[in-house]
Amino acid sequence: MQVKCKWCKEKGEKEKMVCEETQTKNKNKNGTYKMIRKYFHADCHSSHLEDAEFKKRESDELKNLYDFLLELHGFKQLDARMLEKIQDLRNGSVKINGKKYKKYKEGVSYSLMLQTYQAIRSKLDYILRNQNLNNEWNQFSYLFGTMVKNINQVSSYNAKNKTAERKVNENKRTDIEVEVTKKRTVEKKDELDISEFL
Ligand SMILES: [Zn+2]
Repeated sequence: MQVKCKWCKEKGEKEKMVCEETQTKNKNKNGTYKMIRKYFHADCHSSHLEDAEFKKRESDELKNLYDFLLELHGFKQLDARMLEKIQDLRNGSVKINGKKYKKYKEGVSYSLMLQTYQAIRSKLDYILRNQNLNNEWNQFSYLFGTMVKNINQVSSYNAKNKTAERKVNENKRTDIEVEVTKKRTVEKKDELDISEFL
């Protein structure tokens, strides 16, 4: 029997395909719960899992950024225009002569945005106290613009840190290797010592 793959939409032999089963709240006549079954080619299934994991991470990171912004601004929620600004930066979409060219997830990650906001927090609090930003949109876009101007600085700081971290790890590894060699020598010596008594 042939079934359609949820990922690539092509048909395949049912027995050879990966099946994802989810239980619904609805019952069959015999009292068992109705199941939803989704079929995938094996390689399509791993793409599907990767995609689901990516989307989960994206949504977690967006949630963290969102919560931070509510707290920073003291807003109850972000409106659609604010979210669009965040999405455009995330996707890397650009406006040329008023026309938007959409891309998908090619821009700045939500976590880097959040990290940048956090890195310049005191500057932002100062702006909020001293600039006369008379409505929520002005407040949001002014701080958003300030964050964008500081992204490169935070991202190059991250890159430097990563290099430093890698070096520390490399050094650690060498230290461990030295330790192991030392230990081995000592152990050998012990063995010899014991044998001398025998
Ligand atoms: Zn497929």
